[in-house]
Amino acid sequence: VILASAAGVSGARIRRKRVQLAAQTVLTEQAVRARDDLIEAVVHELRTPLTSILGNAELVQQASEQPQTVARRAGVIVRNAEQMESILADLLLARSTGPALLGLTSVPSDLRALIENCLAASRTAADARGVTIDVIASDTLWAEVDPNRIRQVLDNLLTNAIKYNRVGGFVVVTETRTIDTVTFAVTDSGCGIAPPERALVFEPYYRTESARRSAQKGSGLGLGISRDIARRHGGDLRLVESSPAGSRFELTLPLELSGHLSAEAAAPQR
Ligand code: ADP
Repeated sequence: VILASAAGVSGARIRRKRVQLAAQTVLTEQAVRARDDLIEAVVHELRTPLTSILGNAELVQQASEQPQTVARRAGVIVRNAEQMESILADLLLARSTGPALLGLTSVPSDLRALIENCLAASRTAADARGVTIDVIASDTLWAEVDPNRIRQVLDNLLTNAIKYNRVGGFVVVTETRTIDTVTFAVTDSGCGIAPPERALVFEPYYRTESARRSAQKGSGLGLGISRDIARRHGGDLRLVESSPAGSRFELTLPLELSGHLSAEAAAPQR
């Protein structure tokens, strides 16, 4: 209703629509609560960057400011709009973690190449914070995975390791193999995650207290989605270590090249 109101739909039309919906669908109490929580979280997440965009755009509109102030405000507008874009991208992905994801498009993929892709994409953010990234892993390593989904997971881990790091810190990616699995550990020199918050960071929309206080933006959706993706490949994503000196997340994936991927491999939904 809030979103529909924001889109300019009249109250009477919303009420009519609600009656139609009520007649068509019987939602369980739990589903209604989940839907309302989601709407509330989306409105809350989008309102902060939107307020900043509107405030800055109105000031730019007045056109009485120095060119450098206008340029700074334009920068704030772009950053906040990007933030909204990333929230919407996360939401679309969250929506597809239902049955749609059971049909992963898995093909033999070079995991090292996927890591290199992510590194290239993270380079600007890492340089901006003076964070170094080292990868100690095989030159090529083939596994049957959905490359887009696994790139998403690696990207989430690397982005977090940069975002929640100290300025001038480091990120190291290492690889460990067993006969049929590979584990990539992403270790950072960031602020760490306090013990009571360690399990919560995989919950949708959860952001640690220090992340909420920091200037780093986020939706709190990435890690939960990433863990779902890893589990649906028959692997897992875990936070294995965290202290005020940094954190280590481990992504484990099976290495067989066929016959491993199945709906049964998927872990229960969060
Ligand atoms: P976000 O979009 O907020 O980064 P994530 O689901 O990726 O969402 O992460 C959830 C929360 O976990 C983050 O908001 C942050 O508080 C915490 N977190 C994730 N990775 C790290 C890390 N490497 N170091 C410290 N905190 C982290």
